[in-house]
Amino acid sequence: MVKCVSILGSTGSIGRQSLDIIEHLGIPVAALTAGTNVTRMAEQCRQYRPRLAVMATQEAAEALKEQIEDLSTEVAWGEDGLIRAATVEEADCVITAVVGMVGLKPTLAAIRHKKRIGLANKETLVCAGELVMAEADKHGVEIIPVDSEHSAIFQCLMGCADSREIKRLILTCSGGPFFGMDKEGLGKVTKADALRHPNWKMGEKITIDCATLMNKGLEVIEAMRLYRLPVEQVDVVIHRQSIVHSLVEFNDGAVMAQLGTPDMRLPIQLAMTYPERMECPVEPLDLLKCGDLSFYAPDIQAFPCLALARDCAKKGGTACPVMNGANEEAVAMFLHDEIGFYDIYRLVKYAVDTVPFVQNPTLEEILEADRLARQAARNAKSL
Ligand code: NDP
Ligand code: MG
Repeated sequence: MVKCVSILGSTGSIGRQSLDIIEHLGIPVAALTAGTNVTRMAEQCRQYRPRLAVMATQEAAEALKEQIEDLSTEVAWGEDGLIRAATVEEADCVITAVVGMVGLKPTLAAIRHKKRIGLANKETLVCAGELVMAEADKHGVEIIPVDSEHSAIFQCLMGCADSREIKRLILTCSGGPFFGMDKEGLGKVTKADALRHPNWKMGEKITIDCATLMNKGLEVIEAMRLYRLPVEQVDVVIHRQSIVHSLVEFNDGAVMAQLGTPDMRLPIQLAMTYPERMECPVEPLDLLKCGDLSFYAPDIQAFPCLALARDCAKKGGTACPVMNGANEEAVAMFLHDEIGFYDIYRLVKYAVDTVPFVQNPTLEEILEADRLARQAARNAKSL
């Protein structure tokens, strides 16, 4: 089990559940970070007494300082602060629970300081998975997935010494709130409809990604990077109940799956206790109560983001960071009621088609691709 943890994005859905687990396991907290939610960060500082607390902006950091004057917690802000939080000396594990590309540089910094990474921030692997995995190899760092599907695969692969024995990974997908709808129906859905996920309570960005199935597209790429497999060996099936969290098919035809109550605290805890398993405050799975388990092929006509992500994965280079950056921008616009549901796909596709492609990008070229993709998505809004 790890000895001391820092959480990037502690005020969010994964961040708060990580703190539940940290409390359950009795692990000390070294650093916490948030965007602008000062009130929640102040509460967390009082409860967990981190050495360092980081906010996204100077204004939020000043406000936090005022609220926790009586504590010894140091307050910092911005990208430098986030990198400091990722590299605080006493932590041996960093949970990356920030949303979006902003997680990339701090994750790389944590790896260079040999911290175990509990990786929730999938956008990092989508944009720069090859660089991140190479850096982890170089520094002998373990990247333990927190995403439920990838944690399931991680568990199914325990005891598999040779990845050539894997025939394919099968990611399960709840189908989101719009499962079964056709293109016409999807043209009329609202933000409130999209934010109503049937099985999981999550941050807004990932909830919209689940509604478009872009989340599953991002997860296909995340799986390719983590397990170093081509896109052809990563399949997706719709599984409405979210009980089977994902599967691995081996060359001899054996299929391993991990099942459990849909609760992110289990994969979060495993990222901290691995290679041990410990009692976890999650409701046990009762097979006799979970009803029928069903599986369907995804409808890529109605949900084209999934097919677009597979195309970008095949293309490689800057295609994935461009898709991700444009998607972050488009989802933000959708959440601000600036565009409709199908515009998300339209804007992302426009960025993928127009932003110049680079085959083997450096970190700087990835960051530039992200910037250009966001600009392209903004420009495409009025087209
Ligand atoms: P939330 O939106 O709930 O939380 C995001 C966290 O990041 C918050 O602490 C937020 O701070 C902080 N943050 C937001 N913007 C910035 C910024 N610009 N700079 C620094 N910090 C920022 O997201 P989730 O917890 O749902 O998701 C986090 C990551 O985990 C995502 O990559 C998601 O895809 C992944 N994930 C989430 C799952 C879930 O069940 N929620 C499941 C699997 C993966 P503030 O509160 O101040 O805004
Ligand atoms: Mg997932």
